[in-house]
Amino acid sequence: MPSQRRVTRLAPSPTGGLHLGNARTFLVNWALARQRGWQIAMRIDDLDSPRVRAGADREALDDLAWLGLDWDTEVDYQTRRLADYEAALVRLAADGSIYPCRCTRSQIAARIASAPNAGDHELRYPGSCRPVERQAFDFSELKNSGWAWRLRVSDRAVEFVDQIFGPQSVSVFDEVGDFLVATKQGCASYQLAVNLDDDFSGVTDIVRGNDLLTSTARQILIREALGMNNKITYWHLPLVAGEDGMRLAKRHGATRLSELREAGVPAERIIGLLAHWSGLSTATPRTAQQFATDFDISHLPHERVTLTSQHLEILRPSGW
Ligand code: GLU
Repeated sequence: MPSQRRVTRLAPSPTGGLHLGNARTFLVNWALARQRGWQIAMRIDDLDSPRVRAGADREALDDLAWLGLDWDTEVDYQTRRLADYEAALVRLAADGSIYPCRCTRSQIAARIASAPNAGDHELRYPGSCRPVERQAFDFSELKNSGWAWRLRVSDRAVEFVDQIFGPQSVSVFDEVGDFLVATKQGCASYQLAVNLDDDFSGVTDIVRGNDLLTSTARQILIREALGMNNKITYWHLPLVAGEDGMRLAKRHGATRLSELREAGVPAERIIGLLAHWSGLSTATPRTAQQFATDFDISHLPHERVTLTSQHLEILRPSGW
């Protein structure tokens, strides 16, 4: 029997322009896929409607194509699958895997103010609305009543192996407790939707920034609750940060691909810098194709990459 074809996905969020850190993650994802013959699905993660910016989907696709990346499917949009998300929520509510919750953030904060982890930026849900026993709910009936929905999280640790960071054991129960799977408007959360999206495209390999490493355990719990197989291989890549240790933002200079492109910086020079950040010895300009030929995942540095002014100088030598 032929073995199952491996599938990965590129999943930009259309909330702002792609920056050099996003570009590094997408380039490595793409190169791994092209080296290993994986299919690449393209998906726009446009569920987070307050943050979605009109036209940012097109911009992200153009930026990636300009860098020399390509993909093997039509572009998929999360917002085309709202009915599937709802069907999953109906199912999870009916079997008692999720429950409605009306707590506000400030109520949760007040309830745990004296708890040991108070002060961590992510609040652990103290379980105020959690039914003592699993209980069936009718999602369709309650979805417009202003209730958010939480997954009933078990207290056992979730174990998985990350291809970059090795074996992981995460207690979602201790870290965040019962987390949100749908908003008060009845819309699926990112944590829920992404599993249905990946399943829909037959994704076998998820390559993404390690800011999402903590989400993986939550997503595994949702996959289990939905009865999905968990044959996904995870590759979490170290992030790129500014010299102040913070995620890339405007204050770090022109790091958006669209800005660099408009300023006339050639894509090959950007790939050269991304290659240098990915374990290749020099920042020599090269095409994405050449990167895919030379890149070796075993040489990818495991530390966070720091963008310095010297790096920006590589992109725009002699005064820009
Ligand atoms: N759309 C997310 C991002 O741009 C990626 C989601 C995922 O990889 O699961 O960070």
